[in-house]
Amino acid sequence: MAPAPTGVQEVIGVSGNVIKQCPHCRGGFSFSDPPDVGERINHFLKQHGYKLLHVGQQTVESSNGDLWQTTVAILGK
Ligand SMILES: [Zn+2]
Repeated sequence: MAPAPTGVQEVIGVSGNVIKQCPHCRGGFSFSDPPDVGERINHFLKQHGYKLLHVGQQTVESSNGDLWQTTVAILGK
């Protein structure tokens, strides 16, 4: 396991299955629907100076019981 990057004071998780507004832009920015996790990651990288710390897969259960895989990214700055 890689050592934690130094100087990271704030970490945010971006998931492909949750529609969430950017906490920094508040109401001024809305993500696309259907969600595009890459678009969200790029937004945090370019607009707010985050670095990509980790990208992985997450298994989630939908409301009707189906299991599906989604991408989750951990960003920090
Ligand atoms: Zn933003």
